[in-house]
Amino acid sequence: MLANLAKLGVNNLQSLLLHLPLRYIDETHITAVRDLHVGESAQVEGEIVHAEVSYKPRKALIARLEDASGQLSLRFLHFYPSQITALKVGTHLRVYGEVRHGYFGFEMVHPTCKTVGEKTVVAETLTPIYPTVAGLTQANLRKAMSIALGQNVLHETLPANVYARLNLPSFAESIQALHHPAPDANLRALENKTTPEWQRLAFDELLAQQLSMRKHYARRRAVNAPSFAQSQQLITQLLKSLPFALTNAQQKVALEIQRDLMQKHPMQRLLQGDVGSGKTIVACMAAMQAIENGWQVALMAPTEILAEQHYQKISGWLTPLNISIAWLTGSQTKKEREAALQAIAQGSAQLVVGTHALFQDAVQFNKLGLAIIDEQHRFGVQQRLALRKKGEPEPHQLMMSATPIPRTLSMSYYADLDVSVIDELPPGRTPIITKLVSDERRDEILQRIRDACKQGNQAYWVCPLIEESEALQLATANDTYALMQSEFPELNIGLIHGRMKPAEKQAVMSAFSTNALQLLVATTVIEVGVDVPNASLMVIEHAERMGLSQLHQLRGRVGRGAAKSTCILLYQNKLSETARARLKVIYESNDGFAIAQADLNLRGPGEFLGTRQSGVPMLKIADLNRDAHLLEVAKNMADSLIKNYPQAVEAHLARWMPSAEELVKV
Ligand code: ADP
Ligand code: MG
Repeated sequence: MLANLAKLGVNNLQSLLLHLPLRYIDETHITAVRDLHVGESAQVEGEIVHAEVSYKPRKALIARLEDASGQLSLRFLHFYPSQITALKVGTHLRVYGEVRHGYFGFEMVHPTCKTVGEKTVVAETLTPIYPTVAGLTQANLRKAMSIALGQNVLHETLPANVYARLNLPSFAESIQALHHPAPDANLRALENKTTPEWQRLAFDELLAQQLSMRKHYARRRAVNAPSFAQSQQLITQLLKSLPFALTNAQQKVALEIQRDLMQKHPMQRLLQGDVGSGKTIVACMAAMQAIENGWQVALMAPTEILAEQHYQKISGWLTPLNISIAWLTGSQTKKEREAALQAIAQGSAQLVVGTHALFQDAVQFNKLGLAIIDEQHRFGVQQRLALRKKGEPEPHQLMMSATPIPRTLSMSYYADLDVSVIDELPPGRTPIITKLVSDERRDEILQRIRDACKQGNQAYWVCPLIEESEALQLATANDTYALMQSEFPELNIGLIHGRMKPAEKQAVMSAFSTNALQLLVATTVIEVGVDVPNASLMVIEHAERMGLSQLHQLRGRVGRGAAKSTCILLYQNKLSETARARLKVIYESNDGFAIAQADLNLRGPGEFLGTRQSGVPMLKIADLNRDAHLLEVAKNMADSLIKNYPQAVEAHLARWMPSAEELVKV
């Protein structure tokens, strides 16, 4: 029993009481057969007047239950011999199940059955149905719960003024009521978790999350980091050398970062901005501030392609300023790698650009002052932590992401970070036209590719995502490549996928960026960061299989130059309801934030959070959408609670997030 409970995450009295029902059934009254409604669940009591095992249309145990008002069929498709005995004619039975139309009027399939004795009474409260695991019955759980509810552990953890304005019931009342709701409770509101009792617990949970994240935030501010004075020369020189001026949004976030870097505690800032909003230059400005103060900077990207591209672009900007840049990836020759490692250790490399290779043991920085992580959601907690450990004292950390984080998410799961947003694109971008095209019209699409390439533009063909099998995905990419070659003998076509060696990938990418290749067949490896302005057409196959944010990222690979760009989403009929909803969003919106919000609504935060999921306490009761008003209140009071009621805060966290303390590390 204890082992089974542990599987449910229950390991003490508090967590048992917080193991709340999934739904409820109403066994508080008995419905006459005459009053049943198809589609609704009900409890009926009567006598078995007929029972047989029938073999047509398939084997089933069928019985008829009669009360004063009529008869109800009971049908069991799977049954034990003991059930045949239990349903003997003449047995007095109480059954509970959903009512449907059967061959002979009302019917229940696999109802729960109870023989009725003299002492059987109807339930006084709604019956809870708990989430459970094999080997642990509802009866076991209900019994454990009633013992737990009898213990005196439902005290309030926080001062009463926390709840003053919310007008919600006490913790004890809420827990009692949710395990045993009154018979007249609103079942729908219970199941939607909108009753005051659920709301009270949702608030407690949201507040616990805030407290845990904000405590972590405060703790980090007590750690030492090098303070960097404002840059006097390098940033000015860099900006002067650019062919463009910063947007207002870029200036605003650059200032936020500049101020952070002047502090004596490590910056933990997330810089988010839609694809193409110009995060790289902002990151370079931060790097200049660190370098001018005599510290090294590391810039880490999740893929070789992206790291290479950063290296090229940033070298172009910084080499004229006499900044020395090292380059570190897994695919270097031993000699190159050793030279890079040496320059990093000696400090002659002021900026180091690379992939995961950056945080490996062999890499010793001389004086790492700032770690910049591009596409942060692609890295795990441990990986980011490993890079941070490369500095002494702790380096500042700037994380970047093109996947915008909806407001409710950044208020909750990201409450331990400071967030800067670039909410404006550089001027002069022509919006991308998105088209939804059924796969049956493939031929027309091929013609469009031919036309675009003839006019000197370039195109991407993105192969479908096949989550179940990487091998299959690879095979599809190879097939598509062969197909395109026979379709377009006049074009130079490249292929890029995740299984290629980094050097091969780079060769293909640089051929594409110099227009030596006109068409690039790719898997979703090109999703992040790739920047080839002359590419103006993208075809995405089986777009319905991809997540919204992923589609938006992919689409952002075109529309980076002056030419009018088009993204064609090919879909396979027939679309499911969700697939249709998703494609509609991407078709109608070009705004990364709106898309992210829709993605969050459609998929929930789990998938959205990606690797961050393992680093932060997940919400079980609260829903960011439904409970946004509670989140707002919790957020506003967290910091002052931590300051004024530290012991109460500990008690609250012990109840709600017993293991969160070790988890929150990012
Ligand atoms: P992302 O935010 O997706 O990382 P990048 O930093 O790669 O975007 O910038 C996209 C492109 O826009 C790059 O070619 C970059 O040089 C250019 N860029 C950045 N800022 C500006 C600006 N203020 N005006 C014009 N172009 C800009
Ligand atoms: Mg980028």
